[in-house]
Amino acid sequence: MTTPSILLKDLKFSYKPHHNKPAPLVLNIDELEILSGEKVFLYGPSGHGKSTLLNILAGVLEVKTGHVEVLGTNLHDISQGARDHLRGENVGYIFQIFNLIPYLNIRENIVLPCLINKKRAFGVDFYAQADELIETLGLTDHAEKNVTDLSIGQQQRVAAARALIGNPKLIIADEPTSSLDEKNTTEFMNLILNEWEKRRFTLVFVSHDTSLKKYFPRTISLPDINKI
Ligand code: ADP
Ligand code: MG
Repeated sequence: MTTPSILLKDLKFSYKPHHNKPAPLVLNIDELEILSGEKVFLYGPSGHGKSTLLNILAGVLEVKTGHVEVLGTNLHDISQGARDHLRGENVGYIFQIFNLIPYLNIRENIVLPCLINKKRAFGVDFYAQADELIETLGLTDHAEKNVTDLSIGQQQRVAAARALIGNPKLIIADEPTSSLDEKNTTEFMNLILNEWEKRRFTLVFVSHDTSLKKYFPRTISLPDINKI
């Protein structure tokens, strides 16, 4: 039987109240299940709680009400420190703005998650994997280049490689193509989906751009499942 990678039940989330004003409910989701190895497109207009949901799944934001299970662990049952470890070892996160480290070169940026979290790279020759990814990106002759010398499209593909290094079980992408033109969006999608074919991680891909639906066998409208 395929196990769930993500299981949410009766999730309710608000940010902290400000100046005694009650905080509005941002998320109210009865149930969401994403199976291990699924690739899912989650869409909805800006302000509908997409990034909030991803931060909950990554264990960055803590949920007080509801069941949040990620990779077989109930995030309620573990400390913030343990959630940080779970993320560092098992989750690759791709942001809208790439968050590459400007003073590190391409290879150094890509291997960084494995240097920070030793268990992420367990049993993986991550320098060899980084070189394979760099070859896939067509940057073999530039691996020592500063990331700031790359185009925006190339930088975002390096950010994807950094998320993929060490074979994390879950890849979360938060509007990763929204700063890219059409050509670079297509290249980015091809990269991430080719890697999915090889590694079969769970992919939760968020965007407001519904033209990307065509790449995914399963699409979820956040406004449809979020009863706020
Ligand atoms: P999306 O990613 O779909 O654009 P967000 O999850 O960023 O939506 O935001 C959902 C709602 O939560 C918005 O109303 C936003 O203003 C609010 N929000 C987001 N981050 C915070 C925060 N750190 N503190 C308070 N409110 C926030
Ligand atoms: Mg967002």
